[in-house]
Amino acid sequence: MKMTSNRIRVAVIGAGAAGLCSARNLLSRPHAFQPPVVFERSLQVGGTWVYSEEPETESHQHSSMYRDLRTNLPKEIMEFPDYSFDPSLPSFIHRSEVLRYLEEYTENFHVRPHIRFNCNVIAVSPVSEDGVGDRVRWDVTSHIWENPHPVTERFDAVMVCAGHYSQPYVPDIPGIDTFQGKLLHSHVYRYPESFTSRSVVLLGCGPSGIDIAIELAQHAKQVTLCHHGPPIRWTPPKGLSLAPPVVRATPDSLICEDGTQLEADTLIFCTGYKYCYPFLESKMDPRSLKDTEELVRVTLPNSLSRSGLLLETQNGHDACNDQLKEGMLAKDTIVIPDEGQGHLPPLYKHLIHARYPTLVFIGACKIVVPFPHVHCQALFFLAVLEGKCPLPSVEQMLSESYKELMDHMSVGLPLKYLHRLAKDQWDYNQWLSKTAGFKPLPPVLRKIYDKCSEFRNTSPIIYRSLKFEILSSEEFRVNSTDAQI
Ligand code: FAD
Repeated sequence: MKMTSNRIRVAVIGAGAAGLCSARNLLSRPHAFQPPVVFERSLQVGGTWVYSEEPETESHQHSSMYRDLRTNLPKEIMEFPDYSFDPSLPSFIHRSEVLRYLEEYTENFHVRPHIRFNCNVIAVSPVSEDGVGDRVRWDVTSHIWENPHPVTERFDAVMVCAGHYSQPYVPDIPGIDTFQGKLLHSHVYRYPESFTSRSVVLLGCGPSGIDIAIELAQHAKQVTLCHHGPPIRWTPPKGLSLAPPVVRATPDSLICEDGTQLEADTLIFCTGYKYCYPFLESKMDPRSLKDTEELVRVTLPNSLSRSGLLLETQNGHDACNDQLKEGMLAKDTIVIPDEGQGHLPPLYKHLIHARYPTLVFIGACKIVVPFPHVHCQALFFLAVLEGKCPLPSVEQMLSESYKELMDHMSVGLPLKYLHRLAKDQWDYNQWLSKTAGFKPLPPVLRKIYDKCSEFRNTSPIIYRSLKFEILSSEEFRVNSTDAQI
C-alpha cells in the first residue's frame, strides 16, 4: 500500500495510550512517515488515565477513572514492550502512576510537539476522487474548542485511537423511569464517601462493578452486586451481598430475575460502554442508511448464505433490506446492528476498515492487555502503509469480516462480543507480529496474565498484594504480601 508521494502523512485521533503509541512509532520511521498530527480533544495526554472530578460539558468529557483505582493487571505486563514502568513500584499500581508513565513515554519519545491539544475531530471523510480501496486518502476536520471555525486537512491515512470507555451503555429496564432513587453509571463514580448511609445496588459484574462494590461495602449502608453469568467464586466482604440481575423497577425498589425485591436508593449501572465515533462521515456509518434508526437486530437464517442476511426493523417492516441486497452488503457496508451498544464498521483483523484500509481503529478490541496489544496493532498497520505487509483485496477483507460476523452469530454470541479477544489475544498479537515481521511479545506475558486472572477470579479483594517478577522471556516469579494467598 506504499503511497506515491514521498512520505506518508498520518492523522492520529486521540492522545491516550493507543494514540501515543501510534505517534511514537510513526516518529521512529522518518524515512517513511511525516511527523504525525495527533488530535486530542482534551488538554492533556493519557485519555482513560486522566482523573477528573469536574462535571462533564461538551468540551470536557471526563474519563471513567475513579479516585482510588489500582490497576487490575500487573505493571510487568501492562507496559509497552519498549518502555518500562519504574521497577520499584508494586505490580498493581495506582492510576496516577499509569498517567505518569504515559506522560514520561510522551516526553521520552518526543511525541508532545506533535499533539494538538484542545482540538476536537468532528469529521473524517474519504476523499471521493480517490475511490474505494487501499489508496483512499482522508479529509480530517477539526476545531479548537473556543473557535467555531473548523479546519479541514488531508491525510494519507487515519489512525482512530479515540478509546471506547467513555460513552456509558445503559440497558433498558422496564419501570426504571419510575424509580425514585438515584441512577448513575460507573462512568461518573468517583469515590465511595459520597455514598455513606445509602443503599446501593450495582448492576454488572465486570472489573469496575466488582471493584466499586468492594470499595462501597466499607462506606455505604448496604451494597448489593447484581450479576448474571457464572457463579462468583469468592466470598463477598462484610456489607456486600450478591443477587441476580435487576429486570424491573418500581418507584422504591428493584426487582431481580428471581423475584427478589431490593429496597435501594441508588442504582449504579456497571454495564460497560458503547463504541462511539461521531466524526465518521455519514456514508461510512451504517446508521446513516435510510430508516436505520429502526434497526434492532440481524436474524440469521438456517443457511449462513450471504444473501440470507435479513435486517429486521423494530416495527416489523424491512425498509432497509432493499439497500442491503446481495453485493451491496459486501461492497458497501456491512451493517452491524448495535443492540444499543454502538458499533464499528466491518474490520479486517479487528483493526483495519475492510472497505477503506487506510483507516484503522487501534485499541477497539475488548478483554486484552491494552498497551502491548495496541503496540502490535500500530506496528502492523505501519508495516502495511510502508508496503512491507500487503493486505488481501478489499473484497477478501470484507468477506472475511462478514464471515467472522456470521460465525460469531451462529454460535449465539451477542454482537457486543465481536471484538472481544480474551484468550485469543495472544495468537492474534503473534499473528500480527509474524505477518508484519516485528518482534513478537514474549510468552511470559501470557503466563502472567493467566496467573493474574486466576487470582483475580478467586480473590478479587486481595489479589493486588501479588508481586510479579519477570525472570526471562518464558518465566516469572510471583510472591504475595498477603498471607491468605
Ligand atoms: P483512551 O485512553 O480513552 O484515549 C482516547 C483519547 O482520544 C482521549 O484522550 C480522548 O480525549 C481522545 N479523543 C476521543 N475522541 C476524540 C476526538 N473526536 N478528537 C480528538 N480527540 C479525541 N487497562 C489496563 O491496561 N490496566 C488496567 O488496570 C485498566 N483499568 C481500567 C479501568 C477503567 C475504569 C477503565 C475505563 C479502563 C481501564 N483500562 C485498563 C483500559 C484502558 O482504557 C486502556 O489501558 C487504555 O488506556 C486505552 O487507551 P486508548 O488510547 O485506546 O483510549
